[in-house]
Amino acid sequence: MSQAARSPVVVDAPQHAGLSATLDYLCEQPLAPGTLVRVPLGRRSVPGLVWDRRLGQPAAEAELRPVQAVLASLPPLLPAWMRLVEFCAGYYQRSLGEVALSLLPPELRKLDDTQIARRLQRLDRAAAAPGGGAGAPWPDLTPEQAQALEQLLPLRGDAAPVLLQGVTGSGKTELYLRCAAAALARGRQVLVLVPEINLTPQLEARFAERFAGHRLVALHSGLTPAQRLRHWLLAHLGQADLVLGTRLAVLASLPRLGLIVVDEEHDPSFKQQEGARYSARDLAVYRARSEQVPVLLGSATPSLESWQHAEQGRYRRIRLAQRVGGGTLPAVRLVDMNTVPRPADGSAVALAPALRAAIEERIARGEQSLLLLNRRGYAPVLFCSACGWKSGCPHCSAWRVFHKADRTLRCHHCGFSERVPRACPDCGNLDIAPIGRGTERLQEQIAQALPAARVARIDADSTRARGALQAQLAAVHAGEVDVLVGTQMIAKGHDFRGVTLVAAVNPDAALFASDFRAAERQFALLMQAAGRAGRDAAQAARSQMWVQTWHPGHPLYAALRAHDFDAFARSQLAERRAAGLPPYTRLALLRAEARSAEAALAFLREASGLAAPWTAELPVRLYPPVPPPVSRVANVERMQMLVESGSRAALQRLLAQWLPELQSLKARHKAVLRWAIDVDPLAI
Ligand SMILES: [Zn+2]
Ligand SMILES: [Zn+2]
Repeated sequence: MSQAARSPVVVDAPQHAGLSATLDYLCEQPLAPGTLVRVPLGRRSVPGLVWDRRLGQPAAEAELRPVQAVLASLPPLLPAWMRLVEFCAGYYQRSLGEVALSLLPPELRKLDDTQIARRLQRLDRAAAAPGGGAGAPWPDLTPEQAQALEQLLPLRGDAAPVLLQGVTGSGKTELYLRCAAAALARGRQVLVLVPEINLTPQLEARFAERFAGHRLVALHSGLTPAQRLRHWLLAHLGQADLVLGTRLAVLASLPRLGLIVVDEEHDPSFKQQEGARYSARDLAVYRARSEQVPVLLGSATPSLESWQHAEQGRYRRIRLAQRVGGGTLPAVRLVDMNTVPRPADGSAVALAPALRAAIEERIARGEQSLLLLNRRGYAPVLFCSACGWKSGCPHCSAWRVFHKADRTLRCHHCGFSERVPRACPDCGNLDIAPIGRGTERLQEQIAQALPAARVARIDADSTRARGALQAQLAAVHAGEVDVLVGTQMIAKGHDFRGVTLVAAVNPDAALFASDFRAAERQFALLMQAAGRAGRDAAQAARSQMWVQTWHPGHPLYAALRAHDFDAFARSQLAERRAAGLPPYTRLALLRAEARSAEAALAFLREASGLAAPWTAELPVRLYPPVPPPVSRVANVERMQMLVESGSRAALQRLLAQWLPELQSLKARHKAVLRWAIDVDPLAI
């Protein structure tokens, strides 16, 4: 035994260790840090990773147990990756082992050493011939792009993060490609993050055709387990030169990393909503600084956090104000819905007459129109006029949405679905009616109003089948659609050449939402949507963005009309400063879920009490627990408590000391099913 070496190992077992502790195990030879192993834990055998330093207390000699298997075929994970994982676990308050192990492909955790060796051999054989060829030609840059590129190159690892603030269609992707080429030329790997899986195929195609001699892999949750393993290994072995992925790719092992690009950096999809609730954008910035590689954040509508960093000079801002090919941004027209006559039955008008006429003009010219309505289904609620019954969900504090296509009432929170009743379930009245309008109903109304038009719809319901979205997008690109109705899915990224009109049918709700980021998100969505119009320079001059609103005087719409993101950002930040909201304060949200609201509340109250020693001396404030906007989901009651501080360090200090104390509450609060902390929450 005296010959055996001790190694610190992280395992996914928060209940056994402190949040950031390693466990000691014995092995005949010293193990290289980053090596994957199997170790005993209680009566189980679990995967573990040899860490490069000991965290927490060393184990007593008598308690030491030997490593069961060393998966030596897999080259070790590198210290830089371990620092990233430590930061992620520490900042988002999760166990180090849980985060570290969850980042390995699930397949990898199941294999033994021989199986891993075999996979690697197979990869080697495949790697012999990465697609050859010269790649697609490089187009000429516009003078503005060329100027931007001059500021971007040479890539410098010690430079501040770059915020590439460029209007839609200004050619940001071309600059990503040029920077990627520079990093590849130096023998480095390039990581490109996009917010949604749907956006990866077209970007992948663009990178693949430009870099034909290089290996490109995708990393996202839509891959099969085998693909995910293969792509992860290629990245980890340094054989993949380009890694394109969604938020989880930010934590990939990349030994030769030389550039990180975050496209649409403002997008809420970059925030993970379970487990370690990390922001991939923020981790990208951290990783870049820690590994001394440049990071490029691109957006037409930057997050207010990034925009403010640029204002303060902490990020370097590079602007692209012109569209490639000389196109202009569409003129924005506000329709004052207060002046539109209502039909005799008092129902709301789907399209104002002027907008309808503008769409008819497009159809006559063979051009396309996009109608944006960020609510799917036929109607958000069914209503009985006789007794007042509404289609509530029996399991949630929410309405069930009427889906006409399959005649169901579906809860979008818990998934509970039933056939639409023929009569009111409470009073038997046959006359139950839909209230409000979702994309299904809008599609129906447009088809009735414009009988000659080919109307299509894209939303989460219409694209459920595999390949459906690609097929529907292809139909739009092929000009087989005159009017496309859809949710935010149609607003992002797509390069529709035939679209000359975009209309937001009913965007007002976000103006008065309780969530302080609602306006920011809505503005970004409307700017993105506007960006879908007039991408073809020949048509750009007559392209329009229409907004139907009951509040035409709202400053958000004034900024939209002027395509002035900066004006919007300034006014929003002034409001946030006055209200003491991010980025002027730091927030964390403690959430509790229980069978009853009282149980969740009692837990949070006691948790709040436990924080007293720190709140007394740190500039940190705990608010009273409140229910979230939808408080009951699938018969589980939810409550949340906001923690706020002007200082990120103070908030981190409180969380690191306070959260471990909450473990002790478990025994007394058995009715509490789950609790979790969300650092830098997106919605409160
Ligand atoms: Zn009724
Ligand atoms: Zn429900």
